[in-house]
Parts: sequence; structure tokens; C-alpha cells
Amino acid sequence: MKTMLITDFKSQEFQTNKMSIIDFHTHAFADALAPRAIAKLSQSANARAYHDGTVTGLLSSMDHAGIDCSLILSIATRPEQFEPILRWSEQIRSKRILPLASVHPDDPQALAHIRQVAEAGLPGIKLHPYYQNFRLDEGRMLPLYEVIQDCGLLLICHTGFDQAFPRDRRAEPKRIMRVLDQLPKLKFVATHLGAWCDWEEMRRHMLGRPIWMDLAFALEFMDATTSRALLMEHPAEYLLFGTDSPWADQTEAVGQLRRLGLARELEDMILGGNAARLLNIH
Ligand SMILES: [Zn+2]
Repeated sequence: MKTMLITDFKSQEFQTNKMSIIDFHTHAFADALAPRAIAKLSQSANARAYHDGTVTGLLSSMDHAGIDCSLILSIATRPEQFEPILRWSEQIRSKRILPLASVHPDDPQALAHIRQVAEAGLPGIKLHPYYQNFRLDEGRMLPLYEVIQDCGLLLICHTGFDQAFPRDRRAEPKRIMRVLDQLPKLKFVATHLGAWCDWEEMRRHMLGRPIWMDLAFALEFMDATTSRALLMEHPAEYLLFGTDSPWADQTEAVGQLRRLGLARELEDMILGGNAARLLNIH
């Protein structure tokens, strides 16, 4: 009888302390736009979509994978997309969906728009050097980064190469470091384990330094030994689980991370602990 009580207590305690899984890197589109966006993007990047690209599709993928919360990273590919993205982000945000807004570097109102994102209470801004046609360390970008930093917003930036574009080096690790050396307080999140398909350079310039990285669409490009080595060489509190859903299967991505057999504490930090701290959610 006594043993049973202890067991009950323990399982209850486990329930309440259950670590939330947060996917720091997903994409979704307004219902009316999703079919065309998915068709166009899957063709240009030669990528398979694992759900229909809507928020409903994402939520059912999250339910299946046991993911509690996802960040949706929208990209303004033209300056005038700022407003519709912000409006849609405010509509869809919930306990489980945290949308980031996006400003275009050519937007004459970019700085005011960044402040508007902070006032709206969204967690940050997503930028993409390929879809928005800039080099990460270009002089004209610094004022934007400064306002993002001053507003306390996250800057989640696509880094490394991109599957849909020719391989120029506009978002390479050296450029990332040039920006971060100038703006050490910027809450910058490099995507795709620091730099997509440029992991040798990432290892040279970024690994082991206090730089947030999401793991989206990265571990599937390397073997388990390499994944494990990279994750263990980086400061544990700077690693954020991410998938790039719908361009990856969230259930498979959780499984892939778990199969690495990392120490339980590190795995929990990656899957959600670090994200919750960075986003200030509990
Ligand atoms: Zn992405």
C-alpha cells in the first residue's frame, strides 16, 4: 500500500513537471493563401510538405508529435506584406502558436514597423537574406538590428545557404559574427544549426560561443555521431529544437533528436527548456 502511494505521487509529480516541447521554427500561411504558397514553395525548393500549410494543419501535426507550442516564422518578401503579416499574426496567436512578424529591408518605414511589432507584444522578427535580398552584415541592416535589440525583440534570421537559391555566401557564419560582434546584446537566433549546409564554417566561427541556434532542417543532413558532437560542443543553453515544418515531419524530428541519446537534462533543455526561458514563458 505504502509503495503504491509513493509511485502515485511520483507519477503525479512527473506529470506536473513534464517538460513542454517548443518548436522554434515552423511556417504556416493564412487559409486562403496556403494551397498556392505550399505548391509554389515545394516546387522552388524541391521540398515535400508534411501538412497543408495552414495553422490547423500545423496544430494537428503538433498534436501528433507531442509538441506544445510552435513559433511561426513569416517572411515579408515585399515591404507591403508587413501589415497583413502583422494582422494575421495577431489573429492566430495563442498559447500554442507564437507568430513572429517580418519587415522588409527596403521598407522605408522599417524602423517604425519594428517598434509596432514590439508594441503588439509579438516575440520577434524573422528575416531571410535570400527571400529579402540582403547580405547579413550590410551597413543598411545595422539600424534595423539596433532597433530590434533596443525593443528587446528576438531576431530569428535564416543563416547558411538556402535550398531554393544559388549558393552565394550572403548569410555565412563570418557575416553573422561581424554583426554579433557589433551588437552583443542582440537576441539573435541563427537557424538550421547555425548555417544551413555550411556547418564546417559554423564550426570554425560559431560553435562553442554563446549564440542561439535552432536545429531546424539540419540533423537530417548529418549522421548521428556528427549531430551529437556538434550539440555537445555548443553551450547547452543556446540550443533550440526546431523543425522547419511543414518542410519536415515534426514527429520524426522529435524522434530523431531523442534517438541521439543525449543526456536527459540536455535533451530537455533543447526540446523546450531553453526556448521557454528565452521567450519568458512558463
Ligand atoms: Zn524555415
